[in-house]
Amino acid sequence: MDEKKITCIVCPSSCQITVKGTSDHIESITGYECKRGLEYATAEFLNPQRQLTAIVKAKDYKTPTVSVRTSKPIPKDMQMEVMKILKETVVEPPFNVGRVVIENILDTGSDIILTNN
Ligand code: SF4
Repeated sequence: MDEKKITCIVCPSSCQITVKGTSDHIESITGYECKRGLEYATAEFLNPQRQLTAIVKAKDYKTPTVSVRTSKPIPKDMQMEVMKILKETVVEPPFNVGRVVIENILDTGSDIILTNN
């Protein structure tokens, strides 16, 4: 069984939550003060997700690179794989903010979108 200490970031109280369990089952959660913290710690223990931001190469643009981000958080353990793809990505015009550069990257349900132009 694993034990993980999680700092809840949902509100400024920053409760220290302890979760015990396995990769697919939670045995106990202590230290949370509300339901939102319980939900956050549960998700963080079983399937942590993160928003990803990165710089990718740009073609025919005023700068050699542009900023991108995921349209929604993706599983933390897939971030390295996504970064490998972004390292090889070259974005071509148009460079409109919010434009989808890669749809549903690695079947995460999240798109890679432009964040500056
Ligand atoms: S558990 Fe609740 S009170 Fe504590 S930091 Fe999280 S959201 Fe705030």
